[in-house]
Amino acid sequence: MDKKVLEYDVTILGGGPAGLSAGVYAARAALKCAIVDITMFGGQPSNYADIENYMGFPEIGGFELSEKFEEHCNKFGADKYPMQEIVSVDLTSNPKTVETQEYIFKSKTVILAMGAGPKKLDIPGEKEYTGRGVSYCAVCDGAFYKDKEVAVIGGGNTAVEEGIYLTRFAKKVYIIHRRDTFRADKILVKRAEENPKIEFIYDTIPLEIHGAPSEGIGGGKVNGIVLKNVKTDKVTTLNIDGVFPFVGVIPNTELVNGQIKQDAYGFIVTDERMAASEPGVFAAGDIRTTPLRQVITAVSDGAVSATYAAKYIEESILSAV
Ligand code: NAP
Repeated sequence: MDKKVLEYDVTILGGGPAGLSAGVYAARAALKCAIVDITMFGGQPSNYADIENYMGFPEIGGFELSEKFEEHCNKFGADKYPMQEIVSVDLTSNPKTVETQEYIFKSKTVILAMGAGPKKLDIPGEKEYTGRGVSYCAVCDGAFYKDKEVAVIGGGNTAVEEGIYLTRFAKKVYIIHRRDTFRADKILVKRAEENPKIEFIYDTIPLEIHGAPSEGIGGGKVNGIVLKNVKTDKVTTLNIDGVFPFVGVIPNTELVNGQIKQDAYGFIVTDERMAASEPGVFAAGDIRTTPLRQVITAVSDGAVSATYAAKYIEESILSAV
């Protein structure tokens, strides 16, 4: 079956906060705009429990905020293509090409807003027990741990926020951090310290995740984690029912690696207009090199990227006259 070829001014890859914001700004700038995502729209915040630092909403569920973003974007008429398996992206061709299983998108500009995904611990047992006690999403899986004990790994905002969220279900949440000071915002750390269900384990790294043998009650599921104190080298085993690693993010750049400039960690390098190294290519949100990865900065990046995509198209037309 021949794939349908679609022509646009801008193809936005990713339907999270950055992509949806870019969609609003692109559509309002009268650009013909497609937003393509491999899953449903919403991005990472859809999996966050609560968000307290997005302006105008002192407290809102992550999923609810994502829905509001999508509703807002719908108002201005960007064409949305969720659940598209992207086969290839060519940022150097003219027009630029994005091919999915169903369509070929050809556009003057591309905005890369595919975000970032959870970084793995890369320790024995992590892969084996993913979905059977190892989870990267407290909102999705927290309810499975009612009256159980879980370990959260990490010392950033995600670890502390999601650790607090897990106390709604679990009877005990260990937050295990490799240092004795947190990267997370002080207000969150204070809240976690005041929570009687949370116990901090400092200066400690996980070495291995254990599970019960697959036969019998609770078989095949996580039942412990081996820890090492990095100051004393003492190795201990903590009996727990679940492990939530929140140790940072890695950019979702597999489709564009090698086509544009990236930093040492793979994040896309942009200027202040969100322009990437290839003309007509922009990047917004968690996927780019940025000092702050927040919903509010992703939304801002999206606005800037679409504004300068529109200017790029305008200038290309003028220079062709
Ligand atoms: P992060 O800020 O990069 O923190 C990662 C944490 O994991 C750090 O404490 C780090 O320790 C630890 N870590 C890294 N690799 C490890 C390993 N192999 N073993 C053990 N520990 C390890 O990541 P994040 O908390 O996922 O947050 C990512 C970004 O999203 C941040 O910019 C954050 O502010 C943002 N965020 C925003 C919101 C929001 O907008 N409401 C919510 C959540 C997160 P060290 O401290 O020693 O490096």
